Amino acid sequence: KFIALEGGEGAGKSTQARLLADALEARGIPVVSTREPGGTPGAEAIRSLLLDPPGQGWGAEAEALLFAAARSDHVAKLIRPALERGDWVLSDRFVDSSRAYQGGAGALGDEAIVTLHEIGSQGLRPDLTLLIEADEARVAERLAVRDGDQSDAIGGRDGDYHRAVAAAFRRYAEADPQGFAVIDGSGSPEEVHQRIMQALNPLLGS
Ligand code: C5P
Repeated sequence: KFIALEGGEGAGKSTQARLLADALEARGIPVVSTREPGGTPGAEAIRSLLLDPPGQGWGAEAEALLFAAARSDHVAKLIRPALERGDWVLSDRFVDSSRAYQGGAGALGDEAIVTLHEIGSQGLRPDLTLLIEADEARVAERLAVRDGDQSDAIGGRDGDYHRAVAAAFRRYAEADPQGFAVIDGSGSPEEVHQRIMQALNPLLGS
């Protein structure tokens, strides 16, 4: 099975990805944990280019193409082979991040991102996308702790942009209730983890 974790900055995705991987492994399920942008040497190199852009930074189109290129490598070299072996794959972000950041909230729009994903990764979709929703005040708090004054790894983005990202994620989840589970990100990491395990019940056959 292929599970993606999505959400804005500071929603607790990475912590939840670790807790979920541990819980699945404890059940004897082989798990490959990965992240985007990144996950393969080529995609990690593109991640560095995205997070620390040379020169004046990327235009919206170039940025979207780099995310799609990184994902194409990630899908071909890591995700598909793992799924073919029968492993579970947990990815901290996947195509819905591109849809939300570069598409819905960005300049390109959703359709263009979906088309790029068709070309780059044959439109591969997770079996389930966990959208972790956290309230804005909590997110601001976590980000202040995580990286001091740098709340966004990609510069020049404001609160309106992040609200647009959150709204886009929410729209995609509402349009595909089978493909998404919206997880309340409030409370302790353990409480959020329990909600995630609940949402995974149908896939775990319990
Ligand atoms: O998941 P993480 O917070 O490590 O993401 C790294 C950075 O890349 C964040 O600033 C996130 O907003 C950004 N990002 C993006 N578009 C994506 C995926 C991530 O702008 N499609």
